[in-house]
Amino acid sequence: MNEEILQKCIKAGKIAAQVRREGTAKLSVPGTSILEVMDYCEKRIIDLGGQIAWAQYALNEAAAHGCPLEDSTEVTKEGDLLKVDIGVHQDGWIADNAMTIEVKSNKYSNLIKASKNALKATIKLVEPGRQLWELGEAQSSEVEALGFTTIKNLSGHTLEQYKVHGGVTIPSFNNKNKTELKEGWQIAIEPFATDGDGFVKEKDPATVFMMYQQKGLRSVQARKIAEEVTPLNGMPFTTRWLTRKFGKGTTALGLRELQRVRAIESYPLLVERRGGMITQFEHSMIVGKKTLVYTRHEDDKW
Ligand code: MN
Ligand code: MN
Repeated sequence: MNEEILQKCIKAGKIAAQVRREGTAKLSVPGTSILEVMDYCEKRIIDLGGQIAWAQYALNEAAAHGCPLEDSTEVTKEGDLLKVDIGVHQDGWIADNAMTIEVKSNKYSNLIKASKNALKATIKLVEPGRQLWELGEAQSSEVEALGFTTIKNLSGHTLEQYKVHGGVTIPSFNNKNKTELKEGWQIAIEPFATDGDGFVKEKDPATVFMMYQQKGLRSVQARKIAEEVTPLNGMPFTTRWLTRKFGKGTTALGLRELQRVRAIESYPLLVERRGGMITQFEHSMIVGKKTLVYTRHEDDKW
């Protein structure tokens, strides 16, 4: 990885960590509007000199892909188990990080500790030559030591320019994959822990999308949206960005056609299939003899 790219990752990482911390702190107060905080996080990314990849949240039995609609009235409640996942990029070089808190309660401290310990232990193993199964094993053994399970159908991933999910997935259990980490790989590790049975399922309707191929489009609505999201270069977008600009009707019609012709992919909310509670911690890093974790905030203890 050359110095210029490295500096872009580091800058994106600093902003992502800062915004993750600020967003989580705001939402830790019961009665806080999630929509307002997600809007705040996006604006804050820009103000700090970053480019928005995403600002997402997930509550309780949800794992990921929560983005509020423009008219959402959802607020945090005492006892909520809250995940905040922030993505920032610099010219496509992405920092992806997440953390979990509970809102003014102390019911889930072990479940929180489980995914936090898993991330901490796994980072220590990240070096060239390390095999993927070892990273999975480290996550599941930490989580199981506290009596919980990792979510088997969610994983970490490599990051590439303008690609949130590069070609390689980092398992959260020993999947026997002997692929070795290579020097210079940019990866995100994100153990999820649950008191459920360890699998998520999708819950429609999605509010997160990515464009992945240009297609001939019939309707003016679909063309408007395609024109809007094409400059994102395949990075995610969310429904409320579109409804605020084009209105609900145009957005709904346009998204429908774009999905039908498979110009965009939708990413519905992911929820634990038995309704188990979920925690997650995530950092992005560059693999090296001395691995650089570039989304670590000074207040992070992991
Ligand atoms: Mn993430
Ligand atoms: Mn990730």
